[in-house]
Amino acid sequence: MNDRIIESTARASAPETKRAVARLRQDFPILHRTVHGKPLVYLDNAATSQKPQCVIECEARYYAQLNANIHRGVHSLSQQATEAYEAARDTVRRFIHTERREEIVFVRGTTEAINLVATSYGQGLRPGDEILITEMEHHSNIVPWQLLCERSGAVLRVAPIDDAGELRLDAFERLLGPATRLVALTHLSNALGTINPVKRLVALAHAAGAVVLVDGAQAVAHLPVDVQELDCDFYAFSGHKLYGPTGIGVLYGKAALLDAMPPWQGGGDMIREVTFARTSYNDLPYKFEAGTPHIAGGIALGAAIDYVGMVGLPAIAAHEHALLAYATEQAAGMAGLRLIGTARDKASILSFTVEGVHPHDVGTILDDEGVAVRTGHHCAMPVMAHFGVPATVRASFALYNTVEEVDVLLRAIRRAQEVFG
Ligand code: PMP
Repeated sequence: MNDRIIESTARASAPETKRAVARLRQDFPILHRTVHGKPLVYLDNAATSQKPQCVIECEARYYAQLNANIHRGVHSLSQQATEAYEAARDTVRRFIHTERREEIVFVRGTTEAINLVATSYGQGLRPGDEILITEMEHHSNIVPWQLLCERSGAVLRVAPIDDAGELRLDAFERLLGPATRLVALTHLSNALGTINPVKRLVALAHAAGAVVLVDGAQAVAHLPVDVQELDCDFYAFSGHKLYGPTGIGVLYGKAALLDAMPPWQGGGDMIREVTFARTSYNDLPYKFEAGTPHIAGGIALGAAIDYVGMVGLPAIAAHEHALLAYATEQAAGMAGLRLIGTARDKASILSFTVEGVHPHDVGTILDDEGVAVRTGHHCAMPVMAHFGVPATVRASFALYNTVEEVDVLLRAIRRAQEVFG
């Protein structure tokens, strides 16, 4: 066992960490329920995380006390709802360290954020232009670019990964060229757990004259993110993987780029003046926020970010790292278990296959034991193709998971091996 793993495991099982996590678990009502008569062991956090009571209450309070449409009304409720929604935008701004609040566009989630950029920024692409993505992308960061290529005549290029699940930097660099207009890559792979060296990749892409979109769907709940430090041009994430509600997410874009981009959806709120002859558009960020948004969701996302801030992302990252190190070390010692994704820099995600047992069967046995994991291709079919597997089992950790839960997972895997072995 290497020293890092011993140190991490010691940290995860230290009494003060255990007490802190036990206290935090009280904030999540769903963690107290049972599944098939067993305590729920929720390890599907990469799909969506559970919500603390303060987020649930925040959303309920909005409907109970504040409900009104925003940005339009002169009446008090509308003004208070607008203030709360715009305060959440400031909370997001501080969370990812943007220079200006106009750079925060509220959207439905990561998928919508990427489609916004592909649709709007993509209008500037011409036949022969190139878009560079990586082999480890989620389908949400592949398909919008394929659609854009079909519309524009641009060409999609893919930087490969190696067998540890790390991006091959040499190949990435070689694929960048004068035709590269846009690079889109994930900060943290949902199928492998790989953390990409985003700052370095952004610098390389900028040197080639390309703009960079970072898919931060998995990253924001596990790593402190500073978009100015990364110097990326766009950054996308979803609220629901960050202890917030579904249906709300964020697109960050540098103001100069967003300013120059055409609107992507027309409707209320995104206009300044409408006549049948000509319509002029609203200022940033509203130019990209047509229609009534998920007001309660935006406000509750602010509450989720405040919650994460209260616990502290560095502490969350350290705890999850310790859990991942322990789980990896234990899993690596199990006969018949193959880890998929062994990058040096990883967070939160343990993806694996069990010899002779289909991932869905592993998932069913685990569910019998109360353990919720994801089985399948994780919306990353090219990653599955790279490793020659149709699917994996994926356990993914959050701030409320414990070493004991990892042990329940490992025992349940052994049971699956016995049942199907
Ligand atoms: N990118 C990555 C890396 C993801 O993990 C996910 C969600 N699984 C998405 C994009 C899409 O996020 P959403 O479904 O919230 O739009």
